Amino acid sequence: MTRKVFVTHRLPGRGIQELAAHCDLNVWMGPGLLPAAQLRDELAGCHGVVCLLTDRIDQDLLDAAPDLRFVSSMSVGVDHIDVPAMSARGIAVGHTPGVLVDTTADTAFALLLAAARRVAEADRFVRDGNWTAANAWSPEFFTGKDVSGATLGIVGLGAIGQAVARRATGFGMEVLAWSRTPRRVTGIEMVGLEELLLRSDFVSVHVALAPQTRNLLDVDRIGLMKPGAVLVNTARGGIVDENALAAALLNGNLSAAGIDVFASEPVSPDNPLLALPNVVATPHIGSATTLTRARMADMAAANAIAALKGQPMPCCVNPQVYR
Ligand code: NAP
Repeated sequence: MTRKVFVTHRLPGRGIQELAAHCDLNVWMGPGLLPAAQLRDELAGCHGVVCLLTDRIDQDLLDAAPDLRFVSSMSVGVDHIDVPAMSARGIAVGHTPGVLVDTTADTAFALLLAAARRVAEADRFVRDGNWTAANAWSPEFFTGKDVSGATLGIVGLGAIGQAVARRATGFGMEVLAWSRTPRRVTGIEMVGLEELLLRSDFVSVHVALAPQTRNLLDVDRIGLMKPGAVLVNTARGGIVDENALAAALLNGNLSAAGIDVFASEPVSPDNPLLALPNVVATPHIGSATTLTRARMADMAAANAIAALKGQPMPCCVNPQVYR
């Protein structure tokens, strides 16, 4: 019997066609993102689902999908999936690590440079017609913060954190890192989180969002950051207390921030960070290049195909389900 697989969005890449050869495939064609109630309806009778980070895959959904045997997410982060609930039911969860590392590290560095050198603010200034003879080049005109030679603190020295460190080395930065699992990496000084915050001119966040990392950068830890420091977050919104960050940027304790991810997405226009000129905000585009997105989709399809063949997924976050 051909098994049913549901895909929650049209996907780039060629893998999706290969997947279609292995199952009865149903793809949500939009418009927009799939509403949660519809995902619930669509999963009835499905053997597997290929999803995005915008889809919440939790116990409630599982209860409505008794035939579900695998979840394959086109993302490296799996904080939108209740992995313990999946494991308890023997459902394999796949993700797409590795292929997005350099692309996301590039985004982090783009935000770091843009925040340090006030690129978004300067762009708005020019477009708004404010660059006039009376308001033009002067010694203090749009001065920012030097990146070269500064100290970068990396919170979470996983694959993306290490890729950001490699970029920082090219800029002559001193690189500190804190990670749950200490790692010896040439050119990086491992320190405690407090020391990292006290010493870094730039802090870039790269831990996964988990119960232990939610609000990791809370009001107290943001308060430890060096005066005038810059915070960059391309990991997940829930890791940084947005209100505390906005207050620190408003009162001048921090000079700028580059933020790709928000606690609630799409971010509300009322989010206090968006009212601040020294925040560079992007809409969760860390891995958004055409090639990387196609590679991620192909990996998600490969995980699904393996699951359909009864094989372990090549990239599974809960391999204990195979034991
Ligand atoms: P990775 O190689 O798995 O690294 C994950 C990092 O998070 C490691 O340092 C890991 O520490 C740490 N971590 C995981 N669980 C933790 C916990 N419970 N407590 C403390 N630290 C924990 O993943 P990656 O490829 O570098 O990606 C990192 C994160 O970036 C992803 O989880 C995702 O949320 C985010 N991301 C965002 C975008 C975007 O579009 N903005 C794109 C890609 C990824 P250990 O080494 O001790 O496990």
